[in-house]
Amino acid sequence: MFNAVQPAPPDPILGLTEAFRADPNPAKINLAVGVFKDAEGNTPVLASVKAAEQRLVDDETTKSYMPIDGSPAYGKLVQTMLFGADHDILANARARTANTPGGTGALRVAADYLSQNHAGATLWLSNPTWANHHGIFNAAGVETQTYAYLDPNTNALDFDGVLAAIQDIPAGDVVLLHGCCHNPTGVDPSLEQWKAIASAVAERGILPIVDFAYQGFGQGLEEDAAGLRAVAAACGEFLVCSSFSKNFGLYRERVGALTLVAQDSDTADTVISQVKAVIRRNYSNPPAHGASVVTTIMSDDAPGGLRSQWEAELAAMRDRINEMRSAFKAGLDERGVNLTPEGNDFVTQQNGMFTMSGLSKDHVAALRENHAIYIVGSGRINVAGMTPTNLPVLCDAIADVMQ
Ligand code: PLP
Repeated sequence: MFNAVQPAPPDPILGLTEAFRADPNPAKINLAVGVFKDAEGNTPVLASVKAAEQRLVDDETTKSYMPIDGSPAYGKLVQTMLFGADHDILANARARTANTPGGTGALRVAADYLSQNHAGATLWLSNPTWANHHGIFNAAGVETQTYAYLDPNTNALDFDGVLAAIQDIPAGDVVLLHGCCHNPTGVDPSLEQWKAIASAVAERGILPIVDFAYQGFGQGLEEDAAGLRAVAAACGEFLVCSSFSKNFGLYRERVGALTLVAQDSDTADTVISQVKAVIRRNYSNPPAHGASVVTTIMSDDAPGGLRSQWEAELAAMRDRINEMRSAFKAGLDERGVNLTPEGNDFVTQQNGMFTMSGLSKDHVAALRENHAIYIVGSGRINVAGMTPTNLPVLCDAIADVMQ
């Protein structure tokens, strides 16, 4: 039977990593995959994570199964990170959280939940969006469509386009909003724009899913939750897909969460029962390690505890990314290279790990062929992969291919 199977196309982003590994050029640079790197080009384990893991080695008493939706302590901490401890959603027990394997797991559980409980609902995704979004939802049988997002002339938000698109989405459909650090563009709405988008979504009767994979990588843990909280203020029902891959550096441990918010606690119980049914048939219950690390860190909130150590490490990652943004813009300016007709200011106005550079497919191909520099075909560059050493090489190479 296997002889008749055709090979699957390579994943557009992870496939590039395979091509990068196979490239013999010693000067090669990988700015494709979304992984944070320090100034030396490494992705180390955070010190707070190491310390939490040591505690787990010492204190863990069982490897028995987790509950289907993970530990209640973890769920509570996730909700507190999302909404703040005093939020009405927590006070009235309107949220339920399932610990999922990564943000991808949260999205896939959401997709299966939608397909099994809201048949016929279409999911609307920004254009562009993270390369895996369409695939995850289509694989669960949810049809996807796109809404306008980026103004290609300025590399800024096409705010009027977003609002106009929302007006055309039928009631009962679902819209995915990137909570912060939009992937792949780095372009986020302002708080005023978030409020307008959230009201429009609520008025249309559309269910929002907030994909929140980068909390703390933009402006700060609280600041980055402002958009989500605007959605919470306007919309009585929504889903949130969290990932702790980037902000805790726990990529391979697969730790994330699906949080559902309902109008009241009884409805939340009903919906989580369906979410748990989806999980049980899929992976039964989540891996414990990553979530235990997050719980250990977040619960040690005394001054000088693991939580403050982690927050300092997160701030250092965020600051390094923002330093690289400024240095990248300066490097382009110095070489007289303009990535948009309006210059390179957009680079420092965007948030998070990525910038949509505006480089064409031909430029991307020339960067790879002539300079062994790997970026995604759409022109997305991982700013968090830039270092003081590779940045001048990158800027020279961009100047060369744009000549
Ligand atoms: N959502 C977005 C927007 C992402 O960029 C990513 C990862 O790159 C994810 C979800 C998935 O995160 P995880 O690696 O935790 O599955």
